[in-house]
Amino acid sequence: MEKKFIEFLKSRRLKKTPERLEILHCCLECKGHFDVDILYNILDSRGYHVSKATIYSSLDLLAEAGIVRKLLFDTHQAKYEIAGTSHSHLICTQCGEIVELNIEGLDLIMDKLQLCGFIPNYLSTCIYGRCKNCTEKMRSLQ
Ligand SMILES: [Zn+2]
Ligand SMILES: [Zn+2]
Repeated sequence: MEKKFIEFLKSRRLKKTPERLEILHCCLECKGHFDVDILYNILDSRGYHVSKATIYSSLDLLAEAGIVRKLLFDTHQAKYEIAGTSHSHLICTQCGEIVELNIEGLDLIMDKLQLCGFIPNYLSTCIYGRCKNCTEKMRSLQ
């Protein structure tokens, strides 16, 4: 991943700064979904005082390089994840919890799209609702 990113930076004539590389390392260490605040706190705890603006712009570069994926959920802040398999996201609109799920049959849509002349790259769907925890909490309050 690091090699891929360095190649990408080189192709854009951008500098391979220690901050950019450290941001990549943090992304790789994060399991699942992460956002700018999470990365900011990790970097800060390691003595890297990087501004959130720098983290945002580095994440944009990592997304362009195909290393991370920007997930524009209907929440207040963009989330990111390491680009990998296609999957769906179940998003709780109450607590914001995001669960990854593989819904059977969705890959058939990908094949259908090819027939329409559209080349799908990956699939990332979002289903909004209420998670099990929040549902149980609501029930216990009634
Ligand atoms: Zn919830
Ligand atoms: Zn995901």
